Amino acid sequence: MPNLDAIVQEKLKLLEANNRRRTLPQVRPLQRMCVEVTGERCINFSSNDYFGLSQHTDVITAAREALETYGAGAGASRLITGNNVLYEELETLLAEIKNTEAACVFGSGYLASMGTIPALMGAGDVIVADKLIHACMIDAVRLSGADFIRFAHNNSEHLKLILEQHRGEYQRCLILTETIFSMDGDRAPLAQIMELAKEYDAWVMMDDAHGLGMQELGMERWITETKNVSSALPTPHNSDYMPELQMGTLSKATGAYGGYVCGSYDAIQYLKTSARTVMFSTALPPAVIASAIAALKIMKNEPERLSLPLHYAQQFTRKLELPLAQSAIVPVIVHDEVRALAWSATLREKGFVVSAIRPPSVPPGTSRLRITFSALHEEADVMQLAEEVCMLMKADSV
Ligand SMILES: *Cc1c(COP(=O)(O)O)cnc(C)c1O
Repeated sequence: MPNLDAIVQEKLKLLEANNRRRTLPQVRPLQRMCVEVTGERCINFSSNDYFGLSQHTDVITAAREALETYGAGAGASRLITGNNVLYEELETLLAEIKNTEAACVFGSGYLASMGTIPALMGAGDVIVADKLIHACMIDAVRLSGADFIRFAHNNSEHLKLILEQHRGEYQRCLILTETIFSMDGDRAPLAQIMELAKEYDAWVMMDDAHGLGMQELGMERWITETKNVSSALPTPHNSDYMPELQMGTLSKATGAYGGYVCGSYDAIQYLKTSARTVMFSTALPPAVIASAIAALKIMKNEPERLSLPLHYAQQFTRKLELPLAQSAIVPVIVHDEVRALAWSATLREKGFVVSAIRPPSVPPGTSRLRITFSALHEEADVMQLAEEVCMLMKADSV
């Protein structure tokens, strides 16, 4: 057998040749959305800290108090002695925000998915998922052993066709989608998906990693806006239109760390005693739980700060005559990897961090700049960035 270094050098060369090698930039966060990246000062347009809550004084104070009271690490898994008293408050708050009976907090969003899907699905079952779902769900599906079928992105007609053809062959069926897609920023047709799930006897799990704070605090408005809703308008109080499981992360809009799944009391009780990522991984550090609680309270009590990221994203798309932003995430698709890297490098020289997103994070041929907007941006920076991207588009038409 060749030695390990020889093997990985080959693998690295291949990644390099395909422009898919990644590097870890050194980042020093400064004030607001300013960061120092490998020594240069830039404005960060690639952070998921949509409301800037990672820096909010209430969040920092809560973390500091928990740190001083309980120490740095949790010391054991939740089922042993790591289930700090703070968990209960966090889970109650999450269930309230999501309008569900209960919630289970995990070590991260990735771990929430990896723990939940295999705990519920297995051989003889089928999982039907949007083509663009996040890697954490794909990995969880593989681990579960269930059969896997993908439907075209946000295409409920294709989903219907698949269910029509295959639902009968399986015992249980789970539909997976994202409320707001992480790399495209568009929204799933939740109402149509829920109608199909009812018709074909399937469960639905929604990954809301990029929706928290953008919609459920105004979920009725969001669902009402979803097009082609047939009969009675669904509301969070109409359980037919509520997905069985809503998962997400505490590391993006919440500005802290951790993941969660919200659902019925019974489903959550079951996950807490069966999800392997709960059982075999250490509980979150108390300061992280305290920060998440403080951040969620701010989201709940100060809804006015929640509209700014979408407002900036829409200003940006209007200026560039792109399709109107549906969330705080705006993709500028440039197709090939080399161009995405070059545009990202040019923007860096102008003082903006805008990451080039390449396969396997997105399908081949759809490399892009992924721009995210935060309440901590300044309008002038948003306009300046739009100007720079506009020049790149003109100089190098895509
Ligand atoms: C970031 C992300 C996750 C993972 O959440 P972490 O807490 O970062 O592990 C899951 N799903 C989607 C869509 C994401 O964007």
